[in-house]
Amino acid sequence: MRWQGIIHRYKKYLPITDETPNVTLNEGNTPLVYSNFLSTLVGHGSKVFLKYEGLNPTGSFKDRGMTLAVSKALEAGSDAIICASTGNTSASAACYAARAGIKCVVLLPKDAIALGKLAQAMIHGAQVIAVDGNFDDALGLVREISKKCPITLVNSINPFRIEGQKTGSFEICEQLGMPPDYHFIPVGNAGNITAYWKGYKEYKKAGIIDKLPKMMGYQAEGAAPIVRGHIVKKPETIATAIRIGNPASWKQAEQARDESKGVIDMVSDEKILEAYKLLANKEGVFCEPASAASVAGLIEYARRKYFKQPATIVCILTGHGLKDPDRAIKSVEQPKVVKPKLDLVLNEIGY
Ligand SMILES: *Cc1c(COP(=O)(O)O)cnc(C)c1O
Repeated sequence: MRWQGIIHRYKKYLPITDETPNVTLNEGNTPLVYSNFLSTLVGHGSKVFLKYEGLNPTGSFKDRGMTLAVSKALEAGSDAIICASTGNTSASAACYAARAGIKCVVLLPKDAIALGKLAQAMIHGAQVIAVDGNFDDALGLVREISKKCPITLVNSINPFRIEGQKTGSFEICEQLGMPPDYHFIPVGNAGNITAYWKGYKEYKKAGIIDKLPKMMGYQAEGAAPIVRGHIVKKPETIATAIRIGNPASWKQAEQARDESKGVIDMVSDEKILEAYKLLANKEGVFCEPASAASVAGLIEYARRKYFKQPATIVCILTGHGLKDPDRAIKSVEQPKVVKPKLDLVLNEIGY
């Protein structure tokens, strides 16, 4: 059967009716890739899998929530959507709005958005406004605008975003034939950890799985309000997708952590970049820096001997590496320039 996106596949678990339109690009059904290198690193015969969410239609998990948020906006008669974004929400919103034939407005923090994401919002025809402030400032603005004007907010405080995103857990349970023991995930605005936890709990309630994973969330050191226990006024990290100082789903993320007996911790930019390069070099998986925060967390916990017995572990790779080409190029040695002579090239490659 042809895959037709998460609304079609999981309608039983989503707040939709026969009247709800389906604005879809066949999102979801992303690969769960076995990681030999990370499995060996964790040891005890553990198995580590990478949920490659960068392979969604716009290159991030945001599509899972956006298909539902835009479909519901259309059902409610809305003809415009708005969001604040560190990049991927705007890319996804612009894309699904184009698909639905409605207007899209995005507020982006000036100078703090990866090139690929900006390109997507622009090419899909969104009205892009650069705010001379950070993500939290932009989110404050769109919250007010959506209260004052007839325009649907599609940030993750829109409950349909969380509903759509929870389908990631459903897929993992089906792909593994069981839930994982540990679920590693980067945490920014904290909608995704909230969504995954909701999904696992719903599958347990439905009797499809009989246990729940520990939720292991990772913030960047310079943008770790939940770990530090207070708002971070000027969040800083190279992982722009999680550069957030006051997460909208803060309480729900803490709830996921506490109910699952998991952890929300932080990792340095240096460790994030190490994990980012390792995934590309050793696994052939190119994700964006924010995504690598989950793997950086796993590596750190393996180093601290957190795992004592065989475990099944899933790391969510939230976005594709091509979103942020500047970071990739900055992270490696630049190509050497040589004259077009055979002996010179052979000499360079060591033959
Ligand atoms: C949005 C995003 C995150 C953070 O997800 P939250 O739901 O805000 O916690 C992490 N990585 C990428 C690539 C993202 O686009």
